[in-house]
Amino acid sequence: MKKKLVVISAPSGAGKTTLCKRLLSEFSEHMVLSVSSTTRPPRSNEINGRDYYFLSKKEFEREIANGFFAEWAAVHDHYYGTSIRVLDDAFAKNKTVVLDIDVQGAASLKTSYREACLTVFVAPPSLDALEERLRKRNQDSEETIRKRLKNAAKEMSRMDEFEHTLINDHLDQAYSSLKEIVLQHIPELESD
Ligand code: ADP
Ligand code: 5GP
Repeated sequence: MKKKLVVISAPSGAGKTTLCKRLLSEFSEHMVLSVSSTTRPPRSNEINGRDYYFLSKKEFEREIANGFFAEWAAVHDHYYGTSIRVLDDAFAKNKTVVLDIDVQGAASLKTSYREACLTVFVAPPSLDALEERLRKRNQDSEETIRKRLKNAAKEMSRMDEFEHTLINDHLDQAYSSLKEIVLQHIPELESD
């Protein structure tokens, strides 16, 4: 069955946004990013509708109650979710959807989309490297960084649930591995 969803999970700071952006820019004709909804406040460089749909807690809870999410989860004290509409819009255009979501969301989508779902876990070379990247990114408060590091070990313990895992040590190598995995499952992208 054709893989319609490429689900990429990783502890915060491991580099999944960087890898997803690269994948999307290389295969822009056949792939789109699933823009998630969240109650997390926007970072200084983020734009509503491009990086996330930024919702209040009340708005998010209303969307849950209305059954608008294909999956949602509480991550680092905020809600994050994938809208069914975002996925259906992409499928209507015959595009493969790339999702940058947490391990809970990946497990939910694997249950509902089964064979249409390709799951990849991106691990950092070490927890020290992860901390360094979170600090260098310079987008989160000290408290947020600590929370994300604490969650990282928990997320890493679930990497066996994924069909593929790769270590993002050297970015170019990690990207080549990701591309190889994706092309192995979706060879038709090669014609892009
Ligand atoms: P995530 O989306 O997983 O939270 P990001 O893609 O935002 O992670 O990456 C976190 C930080 O680490 C960013 O500043 C990014 O430029 C940097 N980064 C990503 N991959 C690497 C790598 N292989 N080596 C060093 N720094 C990296
Ligand atoms: P960030 O706040 O750094 O953008 O993302 C924090 C975490 O939330 C990351 O692990 C990211 O993959 C995850 N995330 C982003 N969007 C979604 C989503 O729609 N659903 C789920 N379950 N997790 C998401």
